[in-house]
Amino acid sequence: MGKISDPLALSPAESAADRMARVVAIAAEAVDTVDREGRFPLETAEALKHGRLLGVAIPAELGGEGLGTAAVADLVVQLAQACGSSAMVYAMHQIQVSSLATHGVTSEWHRAFMRRVADEQLLLASATSEAGIGGNLRNSICAVEVADRRFSLTKDATVISYGANADAILATARRAPDAAHSDQVMVVIPADSDRSLERKSVWDTLGMRGTCSDGFLLTAAGDAAQIFPKPFSEIAAQSMLASSHIYWAATWFGIAADAFARAQAFVKAAARKQPNVTPPGALRLSEAAAMLQEMKGHLVAAIHRFETAQQDDDDLSSIGFAAEINALKVASSEKAAEVVRVAMLITGILGYKNGTPFSVGRHLRDVTSAAVMISNDRILSNTSTLLLMSRFDTSLFDSPRGA
Ligand SMILES: Cc1cc2nc3c(=O)[nH]c(=O)nc-3n(C[C@H](O)[C@H](O)[C@H](O)COP(=O)(O)OP(=O)(O)OC[C@H]3O[C@@H](n4cnc5c(N)ncnc54)[C@H](O)[C@@H]3O)c2cc1C
Repeated sequence: MGKISDPLALSPAESAADRMARVVAIAAEAVDTVDREGRFPLETAEALKHGRLLGVAIPAELGGEGLGTAAVADLVVQLAQACGSSAMVYAMHQIQVSSLATHGVTSEWHRAFMRRVADEQLLLASATSEAGIGGNLRNSICAVEVADRRFSLTKDATVISYGANADAILATARRAPDAAHSDQVMVVIPADSDRSLERKSVWDTLGMRGTCSDGFLLTAAGDAAQIFPKPFSEIAAQSMLASSHIYWAATWFGIAADAFARAQAFVKAAARKQPNVTPPGALRLSEAAAMLQEMKGHLVAAIHRFETAQQDDDDLSSIGFAAEINALKVASSEKAAEVVRVAMLITGILGYKNGTPFSVGRHLRDVTSAAVMISNDRILSNTSTLLLMSRFDTSLFDSPRGA
């Protein structure tokens, strides 16, 4: 269980950022064992619950705080500087919350479930990946079977991060056994409902080890109302794609920022030792700072772009928007890895070694997952098709040039 001696120390009267600062301290203390043992960061997840940080993006009328994308992304960045796995868990939870908050408000079942998420601080996981389809989000082999207002589903889910620790899983499936592979729905499967999870593979990986993204055979049955009323194609296009790429990029930015901070501390220490000499790492530090700034600019612009597009359904579903939000994923995953690599060049052997104040090995391993978390090649290939049908928007601000 968690190490929280005084749960009341995390008061919901504080701002979400202040509450997250307390969680960050707990995550930073646990990060080395989480990474080494590849264990779920239970104390951090408990602290997120005590700090009531799991329901912050649920609409206020349903018991949450109605935080928007920018505020949530900032929380993810905070946590990622302490523990990449914890931040990715929090990011993935918030992606599921965004699907609920965007597409669940018209359904009584989903409204009641959102109240539960806020009241009970439920942790949500995702099962989109499936044996036989790889990272193709918009394809399912399994199907829900609906009869007498009940559904049943069996999914061979190759990766469900923290599946064993989640309070609910949002799973994609075909709409019916005779539906096309891309004719999908999404269904909410609470852990306390009629469902079973049989572990089929263990997550023993290079990085992001604490996400415990094991493979499971997921079997579930329940009320057909648990299925989102909107088709998954709309959920993916209007909320999931953007929130995934934004919250993932926030995680990678936070990891890169912490590696940069370690490199900066290294250079400062060298400068203190020889006050009249510019340390050799200082030049590379400037290079890393420029890349980090670039990542931040791209992320902030993408959040702004998403928040603007949310006011206009046509824009949100447009080819141009999808291409832009895909670009964020590919660029930030590559840039984060590059910043951490340069941080290691600056810190040298002390960065390469584990257990020094300048260690960046965990950062390097964690960010390598970014390029394969929905393969960059697959995303580039999707975007290349979109670019055949769209024009690059060269205007610097929201309104068209000359307007
Ligand atoms: C840390 C982490 C956590 C995750 N958590 C979850 C989770 O909670 N739930 C979940 O459902 N999934 C999760 N995933 C899985 C992830 O979302 C994808 O399902 C997974 O990355 C698929 O990867 P793949 O390499 O097996 O398959 P593929 O996407 O099939 O890729 C395999 C290879 O084929 C190539 N390739 C495939 N398609 C194309 C194409 N069109 N063009 C060019 N090249 C192509 C790729 O370059 C790649 O090398 C997680 C992944 C990571 C890294």
